[in-house]
Amino acid sequence: MANTQNKTKSFRAQLTAIVTIGIVVLAIASALSSAWITKVHIEDQLFEDGQQITESLAKQSALALIYDSPENAKDAADTAMGFPDIEQLAIVDTNNKVILQRGGFLKTSNISNSDKQIVSLLEEGINHWIFLAPVFLTSETTTDDATLLFQSEIKKELLGYVLVKKEKSKINEVFYAAIINNLGISLLFSTLLLLVIHIFFNRLITPLDNLASVMERAEDEKTNVLATEEGPREVIGLARAFNKMIEALAEQQEQLKHHNEILEYEVEERTRDLVYARDMAIKANRNKSNFLSNISHELRTPLQSILGYSDLIIEVLPQEQGDIQHDVNTIIQNAEHLLQMINSILDLAKAEAGKIDIKLKPANLNQFVADVVSTIKPLMIPNNNKFQLSKQLNQDEINIDAIKLRQILLNLLGNAAKFTHDGTVNFSAIQTSDTLQFQIKDSGIGMNKDQVEHIFDPFYQIDGSHTRRYEGTGLGLAITYQFCQLMEGSITVESEEGIGSTFNVIIPLN
Ligand code: ADP
Repeated sequence: MANTQNKTKSFRAQLTAIVTIGIVVLAIASALSSAWITKVHIEDQLFEDGQQITESLAKQSALALIYDSPENAKDAADTAMGFPDIEQLAIVDTNNKVILQRGGFLKTSNISNSDKQIVSLLEEGINHWIFLAPVFLTSETTTDDATLLFQSEIKKELLGYVLVKKEKSKINEVFYAAIINNLGISLLFSTLLLLVIHIFFNRLITPLDNLASVMERAEDEKTNVLATEEGPREVIGLARAFNKMIEALAEQQEQLKHHNEILEYEVEERTRDLVYARDMAIKANRNKSNFLSNISHELRTPLQSILGYSDLIIEVLPQEQGDIQHDVNTIIQNAEHLLQMINSILDLAKAEAGKIDIKLKPANLNQFVADVVSTIKPLMIPNNNKFQLSKQLNQDEINIDAIKLRQILLNLLGNAAKFTHDGTVNFSAIQTSDTLQFQIKDSGIGMNKDQVEHIFDPFYQIDGSHTRRYEGTGLGLAITYQFCQLMEGSITVESEEGIGSTFNVIIPLN
């Protein structure tokens, strides 16, 4: 805020300085120019006076020159000398002979060449002019009647010259006096003008300054400060608008605060509800998992005894009882399917409840992959699929949870074999410094985008004719996903309907 005030002050000082300098320069310029105009005017006036005096003297000097008698021009010369600033004068004939002179010697040597018919300036110095006027013999200058008779025959004849020296140093005095007077007056008016401007500035800028600092305070301190409504009408209008804005803002802030309080209360309430719902969901999930694992356990025991007794019946049944043998085999098949399903449910329930641990044991990866391949290869036969293996594995033993990894790969390879007909199933296993990367790629029925989105959900099987054609529980991929998560790995899938599917599993080795 102080910064802006300083800025305003320096702007004010600058403005005042500029205006002051401008006015003073204007005053000096106008004083000088008006003095100069006065000087030129007076100079013209004096010059004209000098010319007239010289001309008049010339007119009255003819007789003195005709008769070579200074007495005839004495009065005229005295009159001329009576004029202000006339310092010297001389009447000379055509031979440069001085007939009369006043005020001392006046140099006349340079007049012989003058061929001027009227008054002219013979010489000009810093402080004087010397005017020269030719004196002619004309009808006006003749005195006797006899001459008048021959008036028409008298020609204009040069009798001599009149020289008048006029002082002009007073012009400069007048000029300087004019400058001083004008300057004084101009400065006086300038001071008055500055005073008026200063008062006007203060009236306008001080309230503006106050308004600006109030605005800054409002911005810096984020408080609702109001401006004082004073100064010129426009500034009062500004202050009033600012105050209205601040009041509106304060009102909005109040409303916002109120809304925030309501919102906070609502969020708190919702969070409480959500926490409760989450806790209930966790509890329900735990109960579900417990229920599933208990029920699976309870179901497995009678199922295993059904399987055991069925095997026993097959063994003791005579050959000719073929129909019964077929029925018992169906019982065994269904019981096995049921057992597999129960095992899967148990696995998933355990994984979801976090009751499955990773058990790392040293294993040779080549041996491990060979085991998986030997299990899976027979599954390629029913659908007439080709199986291709590619691997880049180290010979060293590494720590893996072979049972879960095997289950992951068997699920994926089993699905590939199941959903592919007369196609190819590619299995690749790559070991890098810190990961194991498996890829299971088939050229089977594939899936569309929507189906791919849900295949890791438990009990999900793609609806439609395919599902009915293929056996399964819809649990294999859900378990596979859970196992990958447990191993801190990832599983991704790319699939296109009618083209095939590719599953990628990456398991970190650390
Ligand atoms: P299921 O026991 O039904 O195979 P899964 O969880 O393993 O259960 O698979 C879920 C569903 O995902 C399958 O029913 C099938 O529709 C689809 N599926 C899985 N693997 C493939 C695959 N390789 N090709 C096409 N569909 C597949």
